Amino acid sequence: MAERWDALVIGGGFYGLYLAETLAARLPRVLLVERGPELMARASYANQARVHAGYHYPRSVLTAARSRANFPRFVDEFRPAVRSDFIKLYAVARRDSKVTAAQFVAAMRRVGAATERATPNERRLFDLDLIEDVFRVTEFAFDSAELKRLMAERIRRAGAVIRLNTPAEQVEPLPGGSIHVRLADAEVHAGMVVSCGYANTNAVGAASGLPVIPLKHELTEMALVEVPEGFRNVGVTVMDGPFFSCMPFPPQGLRSLSHVRYTPHGHWYDGLPGEGHLPADEVVATADKRTAFPHMARDAARYMPALAGCEYRGSLWEVKTVLPRSEADDSRPILFRPDHGLPNYHVVLGGKIDNVYDVADELTNHLGWAAPARVAA
Ligand SMILES: Cc1cc2nc3c(=O)[nH]c(=O)nc-3n(C[C@H](O)[C@H](O)[C@H](O)COP(=O)(O)OP(=O)(O)OC[C@H]3O[C@@H](n4cnc5c(N)ncnc54)[C@H](O)[C@@H]3O)c2cc1C
Repeated sequence: MAERWDALVIGGGFYGLYLAETLAARLPRVLLVERGPELMARASYANQARVHAGYHYPRSVLTAARSRANFPRFVDEFRPAVRSDFIKLYAVARRDSKVTAAQFVAAMRRVGAATERATPNERRLFDLDLIEDVFRVTEFAFDSAELKRLMAERIRRAGAVIRLNTPAEQVEPLPGGSIHVRLADAEVHAGMVVSCGYANTNAVGAASGLPVIPLKHELTEMALVEVPEGFRNVGVTVMDGPFFSCMPFPPQGLRSLSHVRYTPHGHWYDGLPGEGHLPADEVVATADKRTAFPHMARDAARYMPALAGCEYRGSLWEVKTVLPRSEADDSRPILFRPDHGLPNYHVVLGGKIDNVYDVADELTNHLGWAAPARVAA
């Protein structure tokens, strides 16, 4: 006899955990399956840790505006996981930037994001022949290790069940609208399935003969570095083109260094005409993972000479998955595909951590539920 669950969530990243908690507020039997040995060990760990406040998206008003709306909510709800003990500077490059400093300020004003001119000392960190202007903004970082601890505790309180080392493999419809799910080691029946596999979004659907959702995947490298003294309380992003960011990476007490040109080590698409689904893990397993840190550091040091003193401590390799239309304007729309190919099989993808609120709202609206009351962490 197959086990019966009201809802099954595929994926133990931040999205899977948050949505499992949302479902468990209404449903007594919620199961979350994670194929790996740990929760929040994939993209929800290996990312730049930026709590987006809109500044990163001067070319996408909608993404910037949603970040403005979600930023205070995330900071409030996950306060113990939020790091605000650094100064955040956004600099605009004189050449090759898709926005000028005036356009950056105007775009931010449109979404209500304050920009303050950086102090002379802060400006001196940059080569002002290459940088048009520098702004001090309010943007924070999150500690994914702390976020994981908070979410694991919330899931425990909500009463959802978590199974690690449990890949979901296939889904098929059952009479009456529930879904038969084949797990690697069991067969279960669920009233609904919410798929939160991120880079692996299409895998279960493709194995079940469901339509492949068009997605773009990028193999990414973020270098983890020790920054020189005098730089330790600063986070920097140079806009808006082939430049770099250097942000706190709280789980390891280091900084991440990423570069628009050198962080991506290749990309591929799912669901383009004539193409199917390429499993992300296979691409990653066979990819050449020689670090691009020397290129990142050399280029970053042109704009901020002190960064020449960065010491390399390792790299985080992960797949970044976005909707193909994000290529044009670097936006981060969410994907919400209710009843994708079969009733009650819902597929979600959030381009960034704070989008989880928009995804949770879509899901609860679809189910006809009022938003659940949440207890701040
Ligand atoms: C390089 C990089 C930098 C980023 N920077 C930022 C940033 O600064 N700020 C920000 O807000 N966002 C950032 N993001 C985006 C952010 O990381 C993601 O939006 C978010 O982590 C997605 O969470 P998730 O739970 O969907 O994915 P994940 O954390 O990847 O979780 C998906 C989980 O599903 C599991 N899974 C997959 N298939 C199956 C299956 N069949 N059965 C069971 N389990 C399965 C996987 O093992 C994984 O644990 C970045 C992403 C990358 C890659």
